[in-house]
Formats: sequence, structure tokens, C-alpha cells
Amino acid sequence: MTWKLTKSEIDNQSLLLDESLLSIGNGYLGVRGNFEEGYKSAYSSIRGTYINAFHDETEISYGEKLHAFPDIQQKILNVIDAQTINIYLDDEQFSLFDGEIVQLERNLHMDAGYAERIVHWKSAKGKEVKIHFKRLISLVTKELFAIEVKIVPISNIQLVKIVSIVDGNVSNFVDKNDPRVASGHATRLHVAEIRKEENYSIVKNITYATKLEVACVSSSMIDKNEYEYSSKLTESSVEETYLCNGNEPIQFTKYNVYTDTLRHGDAIIDEALAIQQQLKGTSFEGLLLKQKEYLNKFWSTADVKINGDASLQEGIRFNLYQLLQSVGKDPVSNIAAKGLSGEGYEGHYFWDTEIYIFPVFLMTNPEIAKNLLIQRYSILDSARERAKEMGHKKGALFPWRTITGPESSAFFPAGTAQYHISADIAYSYIQYYLVTVDEAFLRDYMAEILFETARLWIDVGHMKNRLFRIDSVTGPDEYTCIVNNNYYTNVMAKHNLLWAVKAYNLLKVKNSDLLNQLSDKLNLSELEVSEWTDAGEKMYLPYDEKHKINAQDDSFLQKDRWDLENTPKDKFPLLLNYHPLTLYRYQVCKQADTVLAHFLLEDEQDFETMNNSYNYYEQITTHDSSLSSCIFSVMASKLGDKEKAYEYFRKTARLDLENTHGNTKDGLHMANMGGTWLAIVYGFAGLRVKESGLSLTPSLPEHWDSLEFNLQYQNRTLTIKMERSTVTYSLIEGDSISISHKGEIIDLEIGENMKLAV
Ligand code: BGC
Repeated sequence: MTWKLTKSEIDNQSLLLDESLLSIGNGYLGVRGNFEEGYKSAYSSIRGTYINAFHDETEISYGEKLHAFPDIQQKILNVIDAQTINIYLDDEQFSLFDGEIVQLERNLHMDAGYAERIVHWKSAKGKEVKIHFKRLISLVTKELFAIEVKIVPISNIQLVKIVSIVDGNVSNFVDKNDPRVASGHATRLHVAEIRKEENYSIVKNITYATKLEVACVSSSMIDKNEYEYSSKLTESSVEETYLCNGNEPIQFTKYNVYTDTLRHGDAIIDEALAIQQQLKGTSFEGLLLKQKEYLNKFWSTADVKINGDASLQEGIRFNLYQLLQSVGKDPVSNIAAKGLSGEGYEGHYFWDTEIYIFPVFLMTNPEIAKNLLIQRYSILDSARERAKEMGHKKGALFPWRTITGPESSAFFPAGTAQYHISADIAYSYIQYYLVTVDEAFLRDYMAEILFETARLWIDVGHMKNRLFRIDSVTGPDEYTCIVNNNYYTNVMAKHNLLWAVKAYNLLKVKNSDLLNQLSDKLNLSELEVSEWTDAGEKMYLPYDEKHKINAQDDSFLQKDRWDLENTPKDKFPLLLNYHPLTLYRYQVCKQADTVLAHFLLEDEQDFETMNNSYNYYEQITTHDSSLSSCIFSVMASKLGDKEKAYEYFRKTARLDLENTHGNTKDGLHMANMGGTWLAIVYGFAGLRVKESGLSLTPSLPEHWDSLEFNLQYQNRTLTIKMERSTVTYSLIEGDSISISHKGEIIDLEIGENMKLAV
């Protein structure tokens, strides 16, 4: 039951929401859960097909444009629409908005990798039919989006007509009133080529500015010997029509292959045709078998089993499945804030990747995690460039939001000013190294990333009174902008600096030739490395004696408190109802900031301070960002408040399924989806990965009977099963290992189940 998300109603409220929830994808291609035959009103649907990183650029228009404000903004595009299949029963067109829906069921199969719609429908004139749509985006052939339609007549129908369309006339969705959605430039693609070749419908589009190209080559088939077929080209589309006898079941399939010039070279139509050739003879059933095989493997390491709460079980599985469907698996793609399920945040990659999503893949599927890091490495030159534009002499400043490298954030106080993203990226590189001990990775990617980000901190900060300070940046909390010494930023920068020194020393021992080459390339001297040590060791971390907490920044605690209790419910999220300056003047947080720093770098403070900070910031945090509750859950677990940890977890696990933030229609909240997993694995199980190794402090929520999950760690697979008063550690694969259980070292041997009290 929990492998299948089911929807059986349609109403105007849920149409858009369900399109996001029932979206399908594979990290390269994503399609929203739209109806093949379309809608009555254009407002009921955001029809969308997306290719990760496939984008155009638009000019940003500012009232006053100051130095180094980005000129252009990247934006993911809704590409060629190959979803459309119109069905006519004699003279009536099938539509869920006419006639009568006798029965409707929509399912997303998370173990089998497809979505389906089963409709029993009666037309206005009484024609009755059952139609079963299945659609999948292949997890094996990334370019393929396939649809199968089975039409079973129930009443007397003479003729069934199927019109299948591939349309290059596509636009993006805009909403001028919501800063989280694009406000202009709906159409950024035009048709460059359109033709029919043999039985293929071919459409190629080109973007206005970036001149990137995308092709869709589609083939369709009907399981009948006798039918009439015709096709026509319009200015923007290829339409194929099949006319056949309506007195017996009909099966129609459509294979759409997408290629693009970011990945497939220039001959994208030929490439798509070649993929179509390879698919010849592969039935829809055959595709489903391959989906299943892929997913069996995925779930064997990624599944989390919650025994005792079916709805939370559904939540975590759905979240993990959607992360898999959206995460980029090739070197040009990362994971967008809304994945491939919608256009919110315009397909941009944020720090969401490193802090919220990357850890899930790191601990369950390190190859995917590595790809995310390599994509960041591929934009290192842009980050160096950006640092220069921002007036830094050296180093790399990663863009707050981007697709292929350029900063795409127009609002710098909550954009470019979030310098912490560079330390966040460094943090994820360090975590990767600790989990994989991949020396080649240290050599080929990590050292350079750590050196260049460390350089940034030296240039942005300064030493005063023997303390290293970082002024005028914004931390994660976007309701408090441009501050001096944001605790989160400073502590993450410290980690970044000191690890850059460690990486330097490691390379010196392991591969001094390479270090020399790299030092030459970067013009790096030992003197600079000693500056990193000095700045890291003397990093100023604001602490408030009165409250015995880490202050979020130098001025935060001097501000007046926002009166959250008396703020009407309809004024949330505050960002949609108050000018940013109003928010900046108060102690009010959009999301976890200092509390997040305590989770990521817990050894920087003692338990008491973290506990005090948690209690203090909890009172003033709105969780208006979906990146917040999960972190409060992790920290509540750490601090021993089991009930709160559980409550915060509940808020994350079904955030999209229940649309609790009200904007799931624009796409799923990927960071929160990763956060659900963090709340379980780093929260309830208390996982930490440090230089000293892997440690766990498990504590099962009272509401559950058991919780089970796997971890990949240093070429090993471990299973952790938490029950009410025990935990069982099993080493499934790999060499024996010592781990820490509640501070005590235990040795695990392959095949052995070690059951311990909690
Ligand atoms: C959050 C950011 C986040 C962005 C994209 C914003 O609302 O405040 O932290 O990176 O959404 O998810």
C-alpha cells in the first residue's frame, strides 16, 4: 500500500497540486502529471516537460542597477510537449471535464516506476468507455518518455479516433505576485525544425538567447491491423491521427525521445533517431520490467521502513522516490529546488543540494552524490569569475542560485550575500571524503575546491583584535540580511579553512607532485596556507553571555522581537506580506540558522549552549521556509526532546503530500524531502560522520514499533534496525568495521547481527 500514491478525486483545488505530486522523471527528464487530453481552462494546469539544466537566459531589469549586479538570469524551460493524446468516441471528445466520471483512479507506483490513470467515463451522449493510461520516464534510457493507452469500449461505439500531437509551441508559467515563481518571459523557445520522417514525428526547438537546442523524436503505434492513418504538420506541431473500429479494445503506445545540445552534441535529431532505433521491438511491458529492476536495486539501499505509521511511511518513501526522479545523474545536472516537478525557483540549484539532499545520496547511493559534487566542480571557473566581479582578489564565490554557473539571483541581500553557500559546498566535499575515503577524489576535485573557497574567506574577512571576522553577509535565515559575523557563516568558514589546510597536508604526504602542480596552477604558497590556519583558529564565533547562546550575528539580539503570537495566520509566510526591511528590523527567523550550524558542526559548542540556542531560536522561528522543520527535528533528537523531534518530523514527512506550504503546485520541495531523511537518520538514529568514524545514538519515536534503514559507508553496507528498547546493527557487505554506538565502540563482522540496548 505504501508503495503507491493514489488519488481518486479531481477538483479545481487539487488539479495543479496533483500534477506536481504525480510527476514522473529520472533526473534528466521530468513531466508533470498532466492529463494527456488536456483541460477545460488554461488555469487548471501547468503543463510541463523539463530537461534538467536546459535553460535560457533573460535580462534582469532593475530600477537601479549597481556594480556587479547580475545582468542575466537563467531559467529552466518547459520544452516540447509530447504528452498530448486526444481520444474521440464517434463524434464526442473524451474529457474529464465533460460527461460523467464513473470512476477514476490515479496512481504513482514508487516500486515499479510509472504513473497511471484508470478512467471509467460516460460521454454526454451516453458512450461508455474505460481508458487506462500508463506513463513512464525510463530510469535506464534517460531520453525516453513513454505512454501507453488502453481503450476498452463498454457501450456501442462505432469509431475511435486517436490524435497524438508533438507540439513545439510551449511557454513557461508566470506569476507576477509570487517571488518564488518567475514573473515574466514566458516564451523562450521557438520551433527550428519540424518534420515527419518514416513513422517519426520530429520537432526541434531553439532557445532565444542561449541558442541551446532540444529535439523530440516521437514514434507511435496501435495494436490493430486495420486502421486509417494520417498525419499533418502545423506551424509548430506534428499531428498523427488513427481511426479504428470502436467495438474492441485498442492499445496505443507513444515513445518520445528527447535530446539536447547540452549533452548530445549538435546532431540531436540523429541522436534521438538512433535511440529510437535501439528501442525498436521493446514493448511497454519490457520497459516496465527494466524500471522494476532499477528500482529494486535503488530501494535495496535507500528504503526506510517505518513500522507503526502507514502515512509517515508513505511520506518518506514518496520523498525519496521524488528525489531519485529529480536528481541529476550526468555531469551537467544537479538538483533544482523543485526538482523536475515544476517551475518554482526556475530550475535553479541552491545550497539545498549540499546541506539537505546530498547527504541522502551520499549515505545510500554515493555515485549519485559524487555527480552532484562534480557538477559544482564544473562551475568552479564561474565561481572564480564571480569572486573577481565582487571585488575579491582571489578565491571562488559560488552563485546563490544558478544552473550552469552565473549568479541568477537578482535580490542580493537574500541572494549573493549568502556567501555561506561556498562553505556549504566545501562541507559536502569533506563529508564525501569522510564517507568514501576516495583519494582520487581528493586529488582531482576536492583539494582545489577547498583551496579556492578558503581563499574567499581570507579575502572577505579580516583580523581585528586577534579575531577573524566576516562582515556584511547573510546567513541561511533570509529574514535577517547583511549582517556582521553570522554564526553559521563563520563556523562553516572556519571548518572550510581548517579542512583546506588538512587537505593540503594530506596531499603533501600522499601526492606531493600533484600538490606542486596544483600549487603552480593556483599560484598557492605555504604562506597562504598558514593564513588559513590562522584565520580558522581565530575565527570569531558570536556568543551571548546573558542568554548563554550563540548569537545569530553581531546585532541580532539587540533587535526588538517580532510579535509572532499576535501576527494573524493569514500574514504567513511573512515574506509575502511585509517589506524585507520590516522583517530585518526584528528578531524573527524564516528558518533554522544557528540551530543548523549546531547540527552540522556540533563539536564547536557544548551541549548546554546548543540546548539554550535551540530553545531561544525556536521561539522566534516561523519555519516559513520548508528547509527549517527538519533541522529542528534533528536537533530536538540530539537534545533529547523526543516528542518535539517527532512533531517536527511529521511536518516534513508529508509537507508536499498535504500541501502544507500551499505552493506545491509550483513543484515539490526537494530540500525538505531530503530533510525528512535527515530527521530520521541524523535525528532519530543520531548518525554522525566525522574523522573519528561513524557514530549512532538511536532513539525510536514512541509512536513506532520499529525503524529500519541502510547506510553505505566506506565500501560497506550496514543495516540499522531500531526497535523500542534495542537496536540491531548488521554488516551486510564489506570488511569488518568499528563504529560507535552511544559513545561505545563496537566491532561489526560481516553477516553478524549485533543487538544492543538503547
Ligand atoms: C529558502 C532558501 C532556499 C530556497 C530554495 C528559500 O525560501 O529561504 O534557504 O535555498 O528557498 O529552496
